[in-house]
Amino acid sequence: MEKPKQEAPEAFKGKKNIYVCDACHGHIVTIDVDAGVTPFMINCRAHPRCKGTMRSSMYRVFDQDMAASHEWYRPTPDDCLRPGEIEHVLKGGLLLRTVNQMGLGIAAAASDAPVHAQLINDLKEQLLIVFLRRLGGKLSLPVAEVDDTGSETLSFNLENGDTFNFELCKKH
Ligand SMILES: [Zn+2]
Repeated sequence: MEKPKQEAPEAFKGKKNIYVCDACHGHIVTIDVDAGVTPFMINCRAHPRCKGTMRSSMYRVFDQDMAASHEWYRPTPDDCLRPGEIEHVLKGGLLLRTVNQMGLGIAAAASDAPVHAQLINDLKEQLLIVFLRRLGGKLSLPVAEVDDTGSETLSFNLENGDTFNFELCKKH
């Protein structure tokens, strides 16, 4: 559970921030897409299995052109919140999600080589082609099975510039 410790007043909408993990030293770039409060500390999002804590760089991001992998957003009434999140949101807190979920649940979780949302978009169709080739070039899926992917995200990173690693992780 992320501590709802406060840091950002209303003025940070549109601003980028960097969170760095004290365990794996991975980092993520975030952007506030709504006005609200963001935590100083969050669970590590750089690596799926890391149990470390990430700390805010207090919005000291010199290169505001950096692509954000995650965004802080204010949930709408349609969003399904967990009990801890409801309290946080009622206090003015924003929630964190990966940028560009693409409907496929692909989340960029790269730290050493952050994969930009645009790059992922460009890759999407290529990846589906490659996946399908691996599966023999043909696949039929029940709609129900596709609908039942809400609890997992697909994380990936680029290794040594020549290999993509993909992994399913439970949303947390
Ligand atoms: Zn970490």
